[in-house]
Amino acid sequence: MTVSKTVVIVGRPNVGKSTLFNRLTKSRDALVGDQPGLTRDRHYGVVWHKGASFIAVDTGGLELQSTRSRNVTTEMVKQADLAVDESDLVLFLVDARDGLTNEDERIANKLRKTGREMWLIAKKAEGVSQGGKLADFYELGLGDPLAISASHGDGVSDLKAEIVRHLDIEAFSPEDTEAKNHPMIAVIGRPNVGKSTLVNTIIGENRVIAFDQPGTTRDAIEINFQRDGKDYTIVDTAGVRKRGKVSEKIEKFSVIKSLQAIEKSNVVALVIDATEGVSDQDVSLAAFAFEAGRSMVVVFNKWDLVDERGRDEVERTFRRKLRFLDFAKIHRLSALNGSGVASLVRSINVAYTSSRANLPTPQLTRVLKLAVERQSPPRKGYSRPKLRYAHQGGINPPLVIVHGNSVDHVPDSYRRYLESSFTTAFKLKGTQVRVSFRQGRNPFSRANKH
Ligand code: GDP
Repeated sequence: MTVSKTVVIVGRPNVGKSTLFNRLTKSRDALVGDQPGLTRDRHYGVVWHKGASFIAVDTGGLELQSTRSRNVTTEMVKQADLAVDESDLVLFLVDARDGLTNEDERIANKLRKTGREMWLIAKKAEGVSQGGKLADFYELGLGDPLAISASHGDGVSDLKAEIVRHLDIEAFSPEDTEAKNHPMIAVIGRPNVGKSTLVNTIIGENRVIAFDQPGTTRDAIEINFQRDGKDYTIVDTAGVRKRGKVSEKIEKFSVIKSLQAIEKSNVVALVIDATEGVSDQDVSLAAFAFEAGRSMVVVFNKWDLVDERGRDEVERTFRRKLRFLDFAKIHRLSALNGSGVASLVRSINVAYTSSRANLPTPQLTRVLKLAVERQSPPRKGYSRPKLRYAHQGGINPPLVIVHGNSVDHVPDSYRRYLESSFTTAFKLKGTQVRVSFRQGRNPFSRANKH
């Protein structure tokens, strides 16, 4: 299996990093829609180009956190630096309208020291000659700036193509999915939340064919094992280290490794330390896993250490910050003494199975009709969307394509209502369900046949 390549966007504050990030990651977003609380926390995303994909990191999002609290600032700025260190390519964004600024020069100097490969991306306004100002950027010694347009995103598609070509990224092949015919679990979370302890407890004595697949240092490690006669793989971020060596304990927390593990997995277990609560780092990792469509389980670990007040606090911050994970089952457990771990593994199986559920067209259409009867989509102007039938468009996560008329007017809230109707009707657990609308008549109906 290949490692996902990572491209990091840097640049001075407000230069437009998030806009570029959003444009790059857009194709995948289209299916996610507007989830409350999600967009704000997006710093990591997947970029697709003709079947090839890479991970994009928006360091702007990370720095932005600096306005919130001091502690968060240092953690997040450190993450931005670390992301640059671990990246395959840095996109250094500058604004051709402003020309070269001191801040640009400062960032360029800092980046140069990292030794990472860097491309200069210049944002231009349409129809205005910026030849003079663009020339300034040659001073940076980073070669020709690649131009993209500010308002329309022209050039972004070319940029994607260039990146895919340059990093030698291959298009996704069906064999990649073959290899994932059992739960591939990514255990993610901050350092010290108990990931290694949990992984060791899950594997435990059931370790039959457990082995570490030696990867490069940058690669997430895969551990295959059996439990109750079933195959599993844990895609480990840093987790299972040989215990006892102090130096190994001081390992850097690698967001990129976590992102790669999420990419390789089909079920994500997000571990939160119940004594610490939900951090912003948890939220941005969870947002990435959510957008990647993963099925998920949530672990409130070290439950043995928290009193009632602490427990309430974790539950409350979880509901506030991670509302978009409402489909994921929460397990309150102790990885150390093993209580609750068997039940967690059952949930992982359920989430895995749900994410590849087969949803037949007649049942889907029946559920759609019932949902519409209960509550029809809101009218927009003179037209009220008419939703006629539904069929399954994909698995992992299940994608339901709803066909009808005036579907452009269906609001996101109604889409979410349908998603939860399908989830409930098919008793899906631990997986998100995505609904996408398609305009037009039923292709199976007689009138449409050629
Ligand atoms: P990682 O960095 O996320 O892999 O965290 P570790 O698995 O290394 O755990 C960090 C520390 O928390 C270790 O000292 C563990 O023994 C401890 N720990 C992990 N899980 C639990 C738990 O459920 N209860 C208690 N009391 N301690 C735990």
